[in-house]
Amino acid sequence: MPKFIFVTGGVLSGIGKGHTTASIAKLLQFRGYEVDLVKIDPYLNVDPGTLNPVEHGEPFITDQVFEFNPTPSFHYTSAEVDQDFGTYERFIGRAIHPRNNITSGQVYLSVILQERLGTFLGKTVQIIPHITDEIKRRLRDTGGAIKNLDVVMVEIGGTVGDIEAAPFLEAIRQFRLEEKSCDTLLAHVTLVPLLPTVGELKTKPTQHSVKQLQALGLQPDVLIARSQVPLTDDARRKIALHSNVAQEAVISNPDLKEIYELPLKFYEEGLDAIILQRLEMTARPPTGMTDWRQMVDQFVNPTTHLRIAMPGKYVAMADTYVSINEALRHAGANQGAKVTIDMVDAESLEGAEDSKEQLLAYDGILLTPGFGSRGTEGMIQAAWIAVEEDLPFLGICFGAQLLFIAFCRNVLGMKKANSTELDPKTPFPVVDFLPEQKAIEEKGGTMRLAGHPVYIQPSTKLRSIYKKTKVRERFRHRYHLMWDPAKKAEKVGLVVSATDKTGEIINAIELSDKYWMVGVQYHPEYSSRPDSPHPLYSSFVEAMLKRKSMKG
Ligand code: GLN
Repeated sequence: MPKFIFVTGGVLSGIGKGHTTASIAKLLQFRGYEVDLVKIDPYLNVDPGTLNPVEHGEPFITDQVFEFNPTPSFHYTSAEVDQDFGTYERFIGRAIHPRNNITSGQVYLSVILQERLGTFLGKTVQIIPHITDEIKRRLRDTGGAIKNLDVVMVEIGGTVGDIEAAPFLEAIRQFRLEEKSCDTLLAHVTLVPLLPTVGELKTKPTQHSVKQLQALGLQPDVLIARSQVPLTDDARRKIALHSNVAQEAVISNPDLKEIYELPLKFYEEGLDAIILQRLEMTARPPTGMTDWRQMVDQFVNPTTHLRIAMPGKYVAMADTYVSINEALRHAGANQGAKVTIDMVDAESLEGAEDSKEQLLAYDGILLTPGFGSRGTEGMIQAAWIAVEEDLPFLGICFGAQLLFIAFCRNVLGMKKANSTELDPKTPFPVVDFLPEQKAIEEKGGTMRLAGHPVYIQPSTKLRSIYKKTKVRERFRHRYHLMWDPAKKAEKVGLVVSATDKTGEIINAIELSDKYWMVGVQYHPEYSSRPDSPHPLYSSFVEAMLKRKSMKG
């Protein structure tokens, strides 16, 4: 069995528990250990695919599919997981299985369905032991799923004290009791605010948060303190004293210019050494850290700058497209460029006199994934401005569909061409349901999801970018481009540059007589890494940089 490291959070949510967890995993990887990551989400949604990305941030799409079969009567597949998986994959540099996202929804559903099956016949079904047993079973399952796995990192969403998370914390308490003490470790992440009036780091919230954890029977081994400035010795001493934690196990996690630097900061703090010692693991000399540091330097010291417009719903927030932002940042840093992304309110572009001027101020346009009709006319208009002005353009999923709609309207004369998602009565349904989607009514986990092979056509820009005939990319859609209008479009400058294996699903389009204009039905951003940017994003960035230098 692998070792387990649990990561809980206190004081506030959103203080970077995901990055902390991913950074610890990265450090263990530097030490030559095989690590897997689990995220526990205490909400009752079975998976985050049904959450509003504008409020909760994007769901991350995995390459693999999780077959969730708690009883023979219930079958569901998932590839939509918490956005923290994006952080995990970007740090450890490999795909993670979607079964590693455990939600309260899955745990309760599975126990209740088993109750109906008669699994617990004669028993009262309760949180303890039935829910907690199911949680422990799921955790141990992860341990068994990968060969030669050394450590499983388990991040518990929310903050200690949340009612919803209580069964998970209880399960962890039992789990730790059932295993040898050198086989599990608990790291607690808290906030140590800086009081500006006195310029002092305040440790009280951390003390309270640890007390709350202790009241649940959980003693942290390591405390990771998020703060604006590095922890002072005094703050460290106070936290250690009141938390029953050794002083060297109180780790400072100050604000950083670049988040990919965090594993290196933790290394300086000796975090991995402490963890290895507590878990009685050999402290192998770290490898790969120099490369990581060089990569971080690229992010910190850009020599040039790109500005990209992302027209969309005005309500979107930074986390709505976090994987796209990161993919652009990766490609940018790799080529010496800092990338600034401006969310342009698409509704304000609709019919606006200055919409062209607004967009021409940018080096390129990225049209985002999306659902529903709000702001789409402005997005279609933005795509067309990009075509007319020959601005570098990348359309992702919905963004590719909208580029196609703009082309059909403006070049093929299909004035009201649309997607049936946006206008079910359109006279020209140039984007419509995937055939297998037509009969689907349930919304959870039913899109065309996860990784699928993409076949790239010869003599296309896409082929010159990938230099491969077949690649694997991740998908999340119900609709796709229709071949009839695409065939007409192919006669006048549009190229279908990739399809699925059957040739029926159009996976990518490009405009052959334009400088750089590509739309993809899939999501390359999910497989971009800071130290290995996705080739499509790299090519997009390269095109923008070239154009910028030509313009002077
Ligand atoms: N709403 C579109 C579809 O379902 C696009 C989805 C997306 O952008 N991920 O096909």
